[in-house]
Amino acid sequence: MAPLLSCAELRVSVSRLPRAPLGHFPTPLDFCSRLTDALGGPRIFIKRDDCTGLAFGGNKVRQLEFTIAQGIRQGADILVGGATSQSNHARQLAAACARHGVDCALVLMRDEKHTTIHGNLLIDELMGARIEFVDADSLEEVDDAQQDLVHNLRSEGRRPFVVTQPSTRHFGAMGYALCMAELHDQAARLGERIDTLVVCSASTTQPGLIFGNRLLDMGVRIIGVTPIHWSYDLKDAFQDVLQRMAETIELDVAFSADDIINLGSYVGPEGFGSCSPEGNEALNLLARTEGILLDPIYSAKSFAGLVDLVEKGEIGPDENVVFLHTGGTPTLFAYADELRG
Ligand SMILES: *Cc1c(COP(=O)(O)O)cnc(C)c1O
Repeated sequence: MAPLLSCAELRVSVSRLPRAPLGHFPTPLDFCSRLTDALGGPRIFIKRDDCTGLAFGGNKVRQLEFTIAQGIRQGADILVGGATSQSNHARQLAAACARHGVDCALVLMRDEKHTTIHGNLLIDELMGARIEFVDADSLEEVDDAQQDLVHNLRSEGRRPFVVTQPSTRHFGAMGYALCMAELHDQAARLGERIDTLVVCSASTTQPGLIFGNRLLDMGVRIIGVTPIHWSYDLKDAFQDVLQRMAETIELDVAFSADDIINLGSYVGPEGFGSCSPEGNEALNLLARTEGILLDPIYSAKSFAGLVDLVEKGEIGPDENVVFLHTGGTPTLFAYADELRG
């Protein structure tokens, strides 16, 4: 298969979309020699999206450049987000709003981490976000609470815009199509091919990568690891994002469920938002071999997946592997007790 677009053509297509600059790009692609030795097989590189630059970085920075731009373009004067009390998304949104001079309102879950102002929650406050806590048992219930908040804000005469909603995910995912172009250029400069990429994703990052991989014909096996079990089908949701991405840049390309590998087996016994023993072990391994920190809820669980796939031989000894570090490190401070066991 030939590339549908060159990197330059992809960048031109995406440059037609509204975008609010936030991040430091390109993020580094680091070869990890001590980790590679420790795992005794494939050569491991880390794409450092924990270093996207805005308020401790992370993968939401690339997404927010496109999603908040939608709100700003529609004339919003307050951007709304909702999540757990230690949400990385909420922190990066609060910082993005500060950077672009719009107000931020967060609906956060009254979960077990909400009573202490630390980690991401501290940063949300420092960034000046308006925070409302709600009783909710799932992120999907938080979405309903966001709608109530939007209603109240409108009656106050405000112009709110909800930043994460399924209908705008494809804009955020464009940031990760561009990340694939970045990787394309970085691998070429190193004279390396990328065989497999492992990433933590449940909504936006992985479809963006799949899109870029196909358009640029990079042939990378992209293995997603989900941190959460949704009530809906993840592959259906990814396909919806992919289709909207194609429509947005007017490209005739179709994706099927077979284009998506996403593993649900590393969420851990206590589920989303809690540490897993394998994740904590993987976090320690990377810290002690490379001096790189993961977060316990997302990136450590996907890194545990990478380690497991290497041990099982599903990632072969001759492969070049990129671990995409999605960030999340401020939560380390909120999970100190769980991490110290
Ligand atoms: C939000 C988040 C993810 C998941 O990102 P998607 O948008 O679902 O692709 C992964 N890792 C970290 C650290 C996150 O904050």
